This record gives sequence, structure tokens and C-alpha cells, in this order.
Amino acid sequence: MAREKKVEEYDVVIIGGGAAGLTAGIYSGRARLKTIIIEKSLVGGLATYTNEIENYPGFPEGSTGLGLMELFQKQAKKFGVKFKGTDVKSVDLNGPVKTIETFRTTYKAKTVIVASGGRPRITRAENEEKYLFDKGISFCATCDAAANTGKEVLVIGSGDAAIEEGTFLTRFADKVYVSVMHDHGKMDCNEIAKAEALENPKMEFIWNTVAKRFEGTEEHLHTVVLTDLRNGSEVPVKVDTCFEFIGYIPNTEIFKEILDMTERGYVLVNEKMETNIEGVFACGDVTEKFLKQVATAVGDGAVAGYAAERYIAETAQYNSQILAKDHFVYVYDASCPNCQNKLQQIEAIENESAGKISFCKVDVYKSKGLSDRMGITTFPSVAVVKNGEIISVLTDEFTQDVLEAYL
Ligand SMILES: Cc1cc2nc3c(=O)[nH]c(=O)nc-3n(C[C@H](O)[C@H](O)[C@H](O)COP(=O)(O)OP(=O)(O)OC[C@H]3O[C@@H](n4cnc5c(N)ncnc54)[C@H](O)[C@@H]3O)c2cc1C
Repeated sequence: MAREKKVEEYDVVIIGGGAAGLTAGIYSGRARLKTIIIEKSLVGGLATYTNEIENYPGFPEGSTGLGLMELFQKQAKKFGVKFKGTDVKSVDLNGPVKTIETFRTTYKAKTVIVASGGRPRITRAENEEKYLFDKGISFCATCDAAANTGKEVLVIGSGDAAIEEGTFLTRFADKVYVSVMHDHGKMDCNEIAKAEALENPKMEFIWNTVAKRFEGTEEHLHTVVLTDLRNGSEVPVKVDTCFEFIGYIPNTEIFKEILDMTERGYVLVNEKMETNIEGVFACGDVTEKFLKQVATAVGDGAVAGYAAERYIAETAQYNSQILAKDHFVYVYDASCPNCQNKLQQIEAIENESAGKISFCKVDVYKSKGLSDRMGITTFPSVAVVKNGEIISVLTDEFTQDVLEAYL
């Protein structure tokens, strides 16, 4: 007999427990929202792949990626955030209650924060799949450096991650070959990392090359055959491990055709980290952005956590103050003289009607979210609410006669 899935309800469900998701959790947990972070792999995300993070403020001596992320998690737990180690399989994000499906549990949430980051891109060279992860192809120097003590390794790529992690590997390996697709001396990394690497006697650069084929036994890789792009010749490199650092792919497959994305699959957000769906936010490396780092993931996560809290508060206010009864809502900008005059008129109508006409007043300066939700952009306006719906929005005439016609 099929086992019934458990159903759990949360204010905020965060998909992904990297720097962005953990920070969003710290913000929403601290705002006393019932929050869960669902993480399919290691809490801390991609930052745990790196041995040394030197550019995250507040740690002048640097920190290991894992150490830093453990602190993030500790802080999130302090604010009551729950953690679940599983893979989110699918989502239904429409409507006020979002559904997040995992293997055993269905999560129902008022808001969802997508913080699913990215994963390493692979070369797609022949036989690559055969040796991925524990059979000789790695994407994590921190994880696999020690096992390569005294050995020879190959790094593929010349960006910041490739060169910085390659330099780190020289502390363990006897030789670190680096396959670079560019001409001699050209690299994609920052100048400091480049200068350091070029001077490192344990690093040997193989210019103008890309991976062609991976060779080895059934159990383990032993050779990476590169192609020399200048003449097409094969360059075999005998290694114990090949480290690939050639970029990332966003983890957005489960959001395809649900969230608006770029062609490359990065989620589009505005400055509040809002996606195209109400109540759904995205933050960190999964979004289209200029700089993908821990510091920027943290900033995005803070905004997303705060925005989720505002969204929940405004939804509650919208339902309890705007839609809960038949009445009129005066939406105004307290700093505009016309709105101030009309406010006098509104209050006079309220008094004269002896309780028949009542107004709820929304000052857009204080409650922009509420006016946005009502779809009102002209101030002043009067919204007519009947049977839990806005049935009309008046922008010109709100005399007693006009309003009474709606009673
Ligand atoms: C080798 C390397 C070195 C780096 N060095 C630095 C550095 O020195 N300084 C710096 O600031 N940044 C560095 N970075 C970048 C930094 O790690 C990232 O910018 C940061 O980790 C992004 O955080 P994130 O939370 O957005 O995404 P991620 O860290 O990618 O976290 C996303 C998480 O979501 C999870 N996930 C994805 N899909 C699902 C799903 N369906 N269900 C459940 N969970 C899911 C993933 O398992 C992952 O843990 C480095 C990155 C790498 C790879």
C-alpha cells in the first residue's frame, strides 16, 4: 500500500541552504516566521567547496568555506529555523498557498524563497560521466586536496575559482597542471591570482588546450587527453585527479515555465528579490546578477527574507482590513494637497451619513504594498469593496450621492 505523504505548513519555505538561503532564513526566523530550509546536499552550498574565503567581511584572517557556513547555520538555528535534508522535486507556486513537493512530505507555504544556486558545468568530453566525482573528476579542491598529497593533478579552467583552487592544491599535490584554452599568458582570473599562479613552481600551464577524452580503468581515471587548439594534436596528461572549474549552471529545472528566467536559466528578480509570482522570491547565485559571491548572496538573502516578512504582514492586513467587510477604501498620499482636501471631504461624508458610509484609509507613503495589491496607482482614489472583492475604483467624483449608489 502506498504510504500517505505527510503535509507540513510553514510561513516561509526556503529551497536551498547555501549562503543566500541561510541568510534569508536568519531574517525570516528572526521575524518569528515559521521557516524551513530544504537542502538536498551539504548545508552551506557551494561555499563549502572552497578552502579559503578571504573576501567575506568580518574575517580579516579569512575562513574556510565550511567553517563560515557552519556559523551561518548556527545563527539560523538560533532563530528557530528548521532544516530538512532532501531534494525538492516539484513546486506549485500559484495562489496564496504554495506547494513544495519532496519525496516524503508536501510542504504548504505562504511564501517561497528560491535559493537553489548553481552546480559546476562539465566539459562534456568523451568518457567524462564514467569518472565523475569519486572516480577521478572532482569539482571541490577542499574536499579532495588531501587525498592528492604527493600526486599529480590537472585543473581545467583559468577563472578565479580555477586558479585560486589550483594554487591551493599545490599545498598538497607535487604537480598541478592547468589546462587553459587561451593563448600563452592569457587567463580569465583576477590579476593577483594570476601573478601568484605564474610564479608557483608547482604549477605548469598547458596553453591553448581543452579536454577531449578521459581514460582510465573501470575504477579510476588515469589520463586526461587534451586537444591542442592550434593544430588539433592530442596532449595526454597522466593524473590522479582532474579538477574542473569551468563555470556553473543554475539549479532551476524545477522552476522552468513557472518563474521568469534568462535564456541561460537564471531567475529574474526585482530589487525586492520578487519573482514574477506573488509571494515567491529568489536570491543568490540562482538569480541573474553581476557578481556571484558569498557577500552578494548574503545581501540578496537578507532582502528576500525581509520581503517575505513584509509580504506576509501585508497579506494579513489586506485580508483583515481591506477585504473583510463591505466598505470604501480611501487611498491617498498624505503629502499631496489634493489628497488632503479630499480627505476632509471624505471625513465629512462619513459624519453626515451617520455610519452608513464608512472608510478605511490607506496612506501610500506608509503602505505602498497595500495600494500595489489593490492595483491603485492614482491618488487619491476610492476603492469600493463588496463581498470580499474590489468592485470599482473611483478617481474623480466621490460625492455622497456617488458613494450611496454602491450601498
Ligand atoms: C570553488 C569555489 C570557490 C569560491 N570562492 C569564493 C570566495 O572565495 N569568496 C566568495 O565570496 N565566494 C566564493 N565562491 C562563490 C560562492 O560560493 C557562491 O557565490 C555562494 O555559495 C552562492 O550561494 P547561494 O546560496 O546562492 O548558492 P549555493 O551555495 O549554490 O547554494 C544553493 C544550495 O541549494 C541546494 N539545492 C539546489 N537545488 C535544490 C533542490 N531542488 N532541493 C533542495 N536543495 C537544492 C544546493 O544543494 C545548494 O546547497 C566560490 C565558489 C566555488 C565553487
